[in-house]
Amino acid sequence: MSSPTIAAPTPTTESSAASPSLQMLRLHSYRALAPGPRLIVLGAVHGNETCGTRGIERVVAELDSGALQLLRGSVTFVPITNPLAYQRAQRSGDRNLNRNLRPVAEPQDFEDRIANVLCPLLADHDALLDLHSFHAAGEPFAMLGPADNAGALQPFARAAEEESLALRLGVRRLVEGWLETYAVGVENRLKRLATPGATLDRAQLLNTDASYGIGTTEFMRRQGGIAITLECGQHADPNGPEVAWRAIRSTLAHLGMTADAAPAARTDVQLLRLAEVTDRFHADDAFVRPWTSYDPVAAGEPIGRRHDGQLVHAPADGYVVFPNASALPGNEWFYFARPSARALNTA
Ligand SMILES: [Zn+2]
Repeated sequence: MSSPTIAAPTPTTESSAASPSLQMLRLHSYRALAPGPRLIVLGAVHGNETCGTRGIERVVAELDSGALQLLRGSVTFVPITNPLAYQRAQRSGDRNLNRNLRPVAEPQDFEDRIANVLCPLLADHDALLDLHSFHAAGEPFAMLGPADNAGALQPFARAAEEESLALRLGVRRLVEGWLETYAVGVENRLKRLATPGATLDRAQLLNTDASYGIGTTEFMRRQGGIAITLECGQHADPNGPEVAWRAIRSTLAHLGMTADAAPAARTDVQLLRLAEVTDRFHADDAFVRPWTSYDPVAAGEPIGRRHDGQLVHAPADGYVVFPNASALPGNEWFYFARPSARALNTA
């Protein structure tokens, strides 16, 4: 019987994980000896969005070298939250991890298996910073949860804390209203499916359940935590990792977990509220021009043209947000946003 041989370890660096294991998640966890908040920071929930991975690696290196000390609480970093999508350098592995996120008894795909590890992990923390990037050019922005409410869709009681953190992440633009708008969009889809002669292809409809809109931040809030999605810039923006790194450092400082001076709230913030989502119905539905997120539109201005020639107009003065010219029919084509009336907590 031959004795097992142990291969010499392959030298690696933190950023060498081009092919992360598909059998496990790599976490970096630090616990201060003094109590404090439990923060979790995610990178690469979408595999082609690597600015968060880079920002996390930089902070981990600072903590490991002693350049940064955790004085209170605990922080968990997950540099690559979806290893399959990361390995493929694409948004999803088998599916979008940031939708319909919940533990499942019988995992059907890779993301279900990740969810079964990620969901309990999120539940063990008080605050989430989820680092993303986006497809079209544009400035970084953050997605806020709802105002405090006791509604059925997403009851929440920690809006002031969440706003306070969002104002310290370095971004000027904040967006709210994701899940509510998504839920109304789903209702509209269902109505459309019930219309005789609907051109919507049922097979291409990803989901008609409002819970499909639940991603990392929505799950976190349901567990009683606060959560911000930070979109650090265009996927290839060389400044993205810097935006991510700065946001992590600012979050740690704001929560009183490091010796860094607490950052001041940004005062020039533009808060937009997602007001409605419009689905693409047909492969020949096309935008009247190439839109970029946050392009302003005037009430009545044409945004797109349906395959039958019917124009889709802006319902009011506002902004086109998250336009996706190549959306699968039956899925979100673009969102429409308006300035929000919500007063933010700057304390
Ligand atoms: Zn993303």
